[in-house]
Amino acid sequence: MSGGETPGPGPGVGPQSPEAAPRIQTGFPPIDPGASPPEPPFDCDCHIHTIYSGHSGAEMFVPAVMHHAAAMKLRLAVILEHTPIIDSEAYLKPGRWLAGRGDRSAVEAIAAELGPRRTIFPETRFLLGAEVDADPVALDGSLTLEDLSGVDYVLAATHVLPGGGEFWFDRPTIPEEELPAAQARWLDWLGRVARHPAVDALAHPACEMAACRLAEGFGPGFRRKFAPVAEAMAENSVAFELNEAAIGRLPPKEAMGYAELVRTVRECGVRFTPGSDAHRGPQLGRFRVVRAVVDAAGLEPEDFWRPTG
Ligand SMILES: [Zn+2]
Ligand SMILES: [Zn+2]
Repeated sequence: MSGGETPGPGPGVGPQSPEAAPRIQTGFPPIDPGASPPEPPFDCDCHIHTIYSGHSGAEMFVPAVMHHAAAMKLRLAVILEHTPIIDSEAYLKPGRWLAGRGDRSAVEAIAAELGPRRTIFPETRFLLGAEVDADPVALDGSLTLEDLSGVDYVLAATHVLPGGGEFWFDRPTIPEEELPAAQARWLDWLGRVARHPAVDALAHPACEMAACRLAEGFGPGFRRKFAPVAEAMAENSVAFELNEAAIGRLPPKEAMGYAELVRTVRECGVRFTPGSDAHRGPQLGRFRVVRAVVDAAGLEPEDFWRPTG
């Protein structure tokens, strides 16, 4: 989830013809129909949210999202939602949120809208995703949704602090003396999540740890501690998501540290996947800080993994 978004005005939600784009306000930026497709790996967005998140813009109606992704000439788009859903109620009460474990309603809602429309946009491959939280209480790598049937892309996340008390985006204050233990617990947990057989990729790895002051600016010490997670990812062919929204929230110096983490992870044999984490129309398929990280870390298009569904 991308903190801080509030549902916007989103005056129109329907698809529109390119000629009408400058005149009709849809919540999506106009696209030049003559523009060439984005270059790999940015011709792919593996993390697009919908109205079903409860905290996305009203324009993120699945058919409108599909229309826009196709108009951008993306070759691959993963439309997904949080499970359990992180709505405003859950935001305030993690305990209540955890009671939503096993709830497939958002997955089913997206599937119902996505399925019949795939043939309308033959140039863009649309996959059904799920941004599934790992169980923050069990901490054994199990997921809060284990029935992932029909899901093409399983993006595992740790949005809640180990132990289940608070969401990372509420910026929990961990007492100084507890930081090392909290860090070790979180890294151990990530390694276990990477070993879950259903997981395809880890969502914004370690970005939420940075928000909780647990990533040491991604300096050499942290990178060494992260290596076992990277090894577990490589062994299990779990990709490392380069998340535009999450990296974009890091202070510039820390974002450069993140590029060093990316370099280390690549050396362990891990591959990457780009995700905008779009909750609003203009964010869909847009990569700015991810491009900077890719350049700084020296990643090549072949370092990216593409879900096949
Ligand atoms: Zn997330
Ligand atoms: Zn997300």
